[in-house]
Amino acid sequence: MARSEDQLRLDIVEVGRRLWTRGFVASNDGNISVRLPGDRLLMTPTSVSKGFMAPEMMVITDMDGRLLSGEPGRKASSEILMHLVAYRHRPDVQAVVHAHPPLSTGFAVAGIPLDRAVLAEVVTTLGSIPIAEYGTPSTPELPAAVEPYIKTHDALLLANHGALALGRDLFAAYYKMETIEHFARISLVARLLGRENLLSREEVDRLQQLRGTYGIASPAPVCVDPQAGPDPSCQVVVAPSAPGERLVPDTSFLAGIAGGHAAIGNGGEIQLTYGELTTLIEDAVRHLTARTTA
Ligand SMILES: [Zn+2]
Repeated sequence: MARSEDQLRLDIVEVGRRLWTRGFVASNDGNISVRLPGDRLLMTPTSVSKGFMAPEMMVITDMDGRLLSGEPGRKASSEILMHLVAYRHRPDVQAVVHAHPPLSTGFAVAGIPLDRAVLAEVVTTLGSIPIAEYGTPSTPELPAAVEPYIKTHDALLLANHGALALGRDLFAAYYKMETIEHFARISLVARLLGRENLLSREEVDRLQQLRGTYGIASPAPVCVDPQAGPDPSCQVVVAPSAPGERLVPDTSFLAGIAGGHAAIGNGGEIQLTYGELTTLIEDAVRHLTARTTA
């Protein structure tokens, strides 16, 4: 049964409180909206902490963003254009949540998408989490940047900004935001530990079939082709082929990301950067020279 407008107002208050409590937003960051019957939108207003909202603070707009009702002086969130573009392209989407969770936003700042096949539940539910190009917040640049991705993804990073989650109801969108941040946290820990084994392409294919078996709704299929680059028709995940294997040790990642720190590679060998190797050789030469001149 559809939730009443009163209940949806309470739901937005609750989701805002969870975003704030979990540290997904600071100050007045973030915004939440829900589709209402009659081509209308119920949305958080500007300039309020999402942790301390009341149901009557929400505003109602039409699907062009024009204010229909709200307390005197209240305006719709400055990111309403980004929400509207999501609803316009995705009739299945009933709610949109935008926040700045620190770990996923860190990936968005580093320009590293969360698109590697690492966790089965992320592959089955979200597929990949790409990064939409940077657009100035609250301007039409931001909806233009998310538009190419929103048709095929329920979860996005926004370059140097934050994250966006879409759902068929408000809590579904909120839980996707939790999954984005949880996945970012796990990915960061694995990368700090120096290795990130991937699910094989064959395992990803198996997970894709599970989507069908369990009726997991998704705007587009997962496609596995790390060489192909962005594909506007599917959710591209990085998963190397390894017939008969479920996991693939990932060596290329270590070479590229170790970034000046020695890392432990597959099979336990120590991997050094060129600079570290040079320092070691220089030290050895200095020892030898010291011994021969003594
Ligand atoms: Zn934002």
